[in-house]
Amino acid sequence: MTDKKFDLVVIGGGPAGYPAAIRAAQLGLSAACVDDWPVGDKGRAFGGTCLNVGCIPSKALLESTELYHRAHEEFARHGIGTGEVSIDVGAMQARKSGIVEQLTGGIEALFKANKVTGIKGRGRLLTGGRVEVTSAEGNQTLTAENVILATGSTPVELPFAKFDGKHIVDSAGALAFDAVPKRLGVIGAGVIGLELGSVWRRLGSAVVLLEALDEFLPMVDPQIAKEAARQFKQQRLDVRLGAKVSKADVVGDVVKVEYEQGGKTESLEFDRLIVCVGRRPLSQDLIDPELNVDVDARGFIDVDEQCRTAAAGVWAVGDVVRGPMLAHKGTEEGVMAAELIAGLSAQVNYGAIPSVIYTAPEVAWVGLTETEAKESGKPYKVGTFSFASNGRAKALEQASGLVKIIADEKFDEILGVHIVGPMAGELIAEAVLAIEFEASVEDLQRTVHAHPTLSEALHEAALAADGHALHAINK
Ligand code: FAD
Repeated sequence: MTDKKFDLVVIGGGPAGYPAAIRAAQLGLSAACVDDWPVGDKGRAFGGTCLNVGCIPSKALLESTELYHRAHEEFARHGIGTGEVSIDVGAMQARKSGIVEQLTGGIEALFKANKVTGIKGRGRLLTGGRVEVTSAEGNQTLTAENVILATGSTPVELPFAKFDGKHIVDSAGALAFDAVPKRLGVIGAGVIGLELGSVWRRLGSAVVLLEALDEFLPMVDPQIAKEAARQFKQQRLDVRLGAKVSKADVVGDVVKVEYEQGGKTESLEFDRLIVCVGRRPLSQDLIDPELNVDVDARGFIDVDEQCRTAAAGVWAVGDVVRGPMLAHKGTEEGVMAAELIAGLSAQVNYGAIPSVIYTAPEVAWVGLTETEAKESGKPYKVGTFSFASNGRAKALEQASGLVKIIADEKFDEILGVHIVGPMAGELIAEAVLAIEFEASVEDLQRTVHAHPTLSEALHEAALAADGHALHAINK
């Protein structure tokens, strides 16, 4: 096949790669996006982990199961009577798949509208700006001035708990269960483990999360993590810390798990076991070794602050490079790389990347935790406000959790915002903007917040940082 020439070829069509191709095309560059995600019945598969088996399907199931849970637990308090509430797992999964299809199909439409060439196949970067694409339909070589590597990541497998697609599964498998497992084990109580554990717990599974670390959610502000742990316990999500799994054997239809905790060996039996112990970057066999691109021992491609590798014209973005494995972090990196390639100036503010855990309550944060503020050695102040005193949270029947603001004592600059409570994932946007604009606590205090809204809790936390919250008893 003859070579096809582009200004930019992106390898990987996930949330880091496809926006890079679109942005480059918007800026007048000819762009192609090569992606090897298996094509489904509908022939649509761009979107990577995020759209196919990550962010989107998990949130679809979290929404369905939260509604089911509320119908059971809360409707009566609102005075709403229902017949018996039931769940049709098939219908729930079909809704989820419909959303995934719409969104992945949407990317194809965006490619068409922006004149991005979408190519299905496996890409490999060769010397001389060439990208070899292998697919069932045949092989081709593309050439480009610039190549962005956006190949993402894949779940880590434990040697003693190999995925079998039925009893022991990864996160993708756990999003596709066709029935509610009676006893569900989850190895890893991180973000993904908690979200998936919540989905199936709400539908009735007895869920045990086995976490090797002694600390619950170590990346979260300790006060927020403690409140989240308290609420998860109430929901009977059984999180066991310092529990190191050493064995997982499938015997008949049961997974027998052994773990060490506090010097003792414990055992449990599950109907299904989800392994959520992290993800590893996908960089194997991706780059011709002759190229000057460094890959570290864990597989992360080495890049600078602007996602350049050491090889001229080769960039890498998203999960395959350092930093949090988050879709929006990858997207901003992809857009930044495309803009730099087109000759614009661009930079991602790595200090203002929000993180969200979409459990109920949601947990969201941006900037420094109190632990990090302490470690910085600079004087800081803290303001907290409880959703128990927020009118909208009461009306929503979700009046637990809190907002916490950490700010520089001397300069008043907001350094970190942490929320555990209703819609924390939406509320955090205001805090991200505040940090992006280097806002002071006073800026937030003087910003008018609509009443009654959950955002008033942020306003009150800012007031509390200076000891004058209006709806709390200030010491
Ligand atoms: P990916 O999305 O993994 O995309 C990479 C693409 O490249 C894939 O399509 C892959 O097939 C393709 N590819 C790989 N190698 C090649 C090759 N050689 N040639 C061609 N194509 C190749 N993040 C959030 O921000 N919010 C969330 O709520 C969230 N929820 C999640 C829930 C789950 C269950 C999981 C598993 C992840 C979740 N994430 C979430 C993480 C998020 O999905 C990832 O951070 C994001 O998808 C990374 O984007 P990426 O483009 O770097 O990689």
